Amino acid sequence: MLDAAGRPLVQVENLKMHFPIYTGIFRRHTGDVKAVDGVSFQIMAGQTLGLVGESGCGKSTVGRAMLRLYEPTAGRVVIDGEDVASMPSEALRKKRPTMQMVFQDPQASLNPRMTLAEIVSEPLDEHTDWTRDQKLERVYELMDQVGLNRRFVNRFPHEFSGGQRQRIGIARALALKPRFIVCDEPIAALDVSIQAQVVNLLEDLQEKLGLTYLFISHDLSMVRHLAQRVAVMYLGRIAELSPSRDLYARPLHPYAEALLSAVNEPDPVLAARRKRIILKGDVPSPANPPQGCNFCTRCPKVMDICKTVKPDLVEVEPGRMVACHLYPAAGSTGASEAYERNQQGETQ
Ligand code: SF4
Repeated sequence: MLDAAGRPLVQVENLKMHFPIYTGIFRRHTGDVKAVDGVSFQIMAGQTLGLVGESGCGKSTVGRAMLRLYEPTAGRVVIDGEDVASMPSEALRKKRPTMQMVFQDPQASLNPRMTLAEIVSEPLDEHTDWTRDQKLERVYELMDQVGLNRRFVNRFPHEFSGGQRQRIGIARALALKPRFIVCDEPIAALDVSIQAQVVNLLEDLQEKLGLTYLFISHDLSMVRHLAQRVAVMYLGRIAELSPSRDLYARPLHPYAEALLSAVNEPDPVLAARRKRIILKGDVPSPANPPQGCNFCTRCPKVMDICKTVKPDLVEVEPGRMVACHLYPAAGSTGASEAYERNQQGETQ
């Protein structure tokens, strides 16, 4: 679904988030940790993009840089037609209500000294001139929306369970009627038994309120049910971005293939076809990534070109973007020589 102007609601272009490294007594700038190094994607209005990868791959940093919780090093983040990445601070303050975040650890993200009413109405204090009663009415409305009993309005965070605390976090994120929400591992800190409830709540709210989500998670099975499209990240870059159904049925990038080989496959036909791929070696440091493809130090299909030339993220099939020399861009003439060589190598 496109928004009224026929655009995706969110467009990220070449987003970079580098953290400087200073060393020695003179604190000289000796390098950068390239946590996010040129990430691009779009999210259509009312849809969910899943962002997955191992911990440390930069996926949470993408979410924070998009909402300017970090100052991006470079790139554009266009949300509803406006570039958030380059916006002056006053314009950003006005834009904040439309883009919000649900954090991983509800325990850590809620002030233990504030009641539920105070926590949920905090964004209303900042962005509206409503009376106390108007704010309380909105708090009740939000409690109904996220399934919290109105009797709990004056309770403190420690009086709630983990699942209820995450519902408070969601109510706070919804207070100003946002259009876009970054859900940063919102179920990772919860018991398995209540993870599904929170995911169902997020899905219901999306349907009722027309929300657009970036859903960041290392839980690939959960993302499969929530997201229409999924981006797989490795060492600060996107390795593959595909419709969820295609990615889970037939991952193209060797890293996506390895990551998904560890996920339980409910379809017995696909499960029988799937081989578990165990990757060797460690993820390189984002302060010193490989010169060519980021994945070349661990890729089972590595070729000479991979060690020197960084592959671009290109469309290799309709709707499927892959950053790998094995795949020619859609529309390029013939199959890539590299692919042919690799296939021959595999069958020898
Ligand atoms: Fe593997 Fe080369 Fe593809 Fe990188 S570009 S994923 S090293 S085959």
